[in-house]
Amino acid sequence: MDKIKMPNPIVEMDGDEMTRILWQMIKDELLLPFVELNTEYYDLGLPKRDETDDRITNEAAEAIKRLRVGVKCATITPNAQRVEEYKLKEMWKSPNATIRAVLDGTVFRAPIITESIKPYVGGWKKPITIARHAFGDIYKATEHRVTGKGRAELVFTDENGESFRETVYDFDSAGVLQAQFNTDNSIESFARACFDFALDTKQDLWFSTKDTISKKYDQTFKHIFADIYEAEYKQAFEKAGIEYFYTLIDDAVARVIRSEGGFIWACKNYDGDVMSDMVSTAFGSLAMMTSVLVSPEGNYEYEAAHGTITRHYYKHLKGEETSSNPIATIFAWTGALRKRGELDATSELCTFADKLERACLDVIESGVMTGDLALLSSSPNVKKVSSKDFIAAIRERLTEIL
Ligand code: NAP
Ligand code: MG
Repeated sequence: MDKIKMPNPIVEMDGDEMTRILWQMIKDELLLPFVELNTEYYDLGLPKRDETDDRITNEAAEAIKRLRVGVKCATITPNAQRVEEYKLKEMWKSPNATIRAVLDGTVFRAPIITESIKPYVGGWKKPITIARHAFGDIYKATEHRVTGKGRAELVFTDENGESFRETVYDFDSAGVLQAQFNTDNSIESFARACFDFALDTKQDLWFSTKDTISKKYDQTFKHIFADIYEAEYKQAFEKAGIEYFYTLIDDAVARVIRSEGGFIWACKNYDGDVMSDMVSTAFGSLAMMTSVLVSPEGNYEYEAAHGTITRHYYKHLKGEETSSNPIATIFAWTGALRKRGELDATSELCTFADKLERACLDVIESGVMTGDLALLSSSPNVKKVSSKDFIAAIRERLTEIL
């Protein structure tokens, strides 16, 4: 069989620890034998980030802007212990935060569903994708610990001087205080990313906030979404047969639990943080969650939602075989290859991505799976295998399908 050609490259971002090991195995066994893999390679492993004073991360992000599609391995976000472990020059920022800042994107997270792993919520049949706004709110809030009696005020000073002042609270005794902000620009990009992604994936879009209580802050989100929908997307949604609707977050939670899934749920920053962990846990496993960052210009970065699986890596270093689950990382690759195929109109690449995903699910359905899935599976004939054997089984199945 001739290998599938890729006229244009994708940005490949290598990472750390166990996922770096899986990354190489996936390339060697599931990609290189079948595809003339065309990538621009960036090593985002922590040693290389340290060596380049983290320039490599910015270069990778710029490359995504140029080539429009990237795939990323999980990476270590350094903390004090990692600074010690890797003898780092500095506590470098999270690569995901750096890339997100360069691309100004929205992150969409969706579970990979298989027959033999039943979601905790009985009615869920299709994936629920969470779209999380990743700017402002409590993540950039200013906070103050009030130690005694005093007045808290909200003051805004525009170019001509003070234009707004309101008492927040007259404190009689100790308490706490917080000020949050967001910008119309960021909310508008978030809205467009959500509407575009809904059209791209042909799924309904839900959006929820607490605008009955937050009559300026959350209502700004609600109105921006509504205005952009009416002006720019309504016709395309009707044509695609999909729906946009807004509801209060408490109502959304109730509807999500009663739903069958199969839609995108757009959330403000904090809501998205919390709800994505709830949804991924309810679907079974973090090792089965994919994540894609979509920028307002239509650039895409695919990755697994989990981290570098450090505990397994330390076992691997001791020479033990691990049963780490490569599925979300494989689906990051298939997502990127399919998107490349769509942009370049190379349908063989899209078909290959579909078949590789099919092969992964077929192997799990046959009862062969990694340890994390074996614990959750309802299948009667479960066989727990190592990552190496699991990937070998996927290769065998893929060869059959191709
Ligand atoms: P983690 O790597 O997601 O792993 C946490 C635990 O979840 C693992 O110990 C394992 O449980 C289970 N797990 C996660 N993915 C799995 C998989 N594919 N197969 C099997 N089990 C899986 O999170 P962490 O240990 O908190 O973080 C490790 C490093 O990853 C940190 O340095 C963090 O900075 C980084 N991180 C990176 C990203 C990213 O690049 N997007 C995201 C999150 C974290 P058992 O040990 O019980 O088997
Ligand atoms: Mg979180």
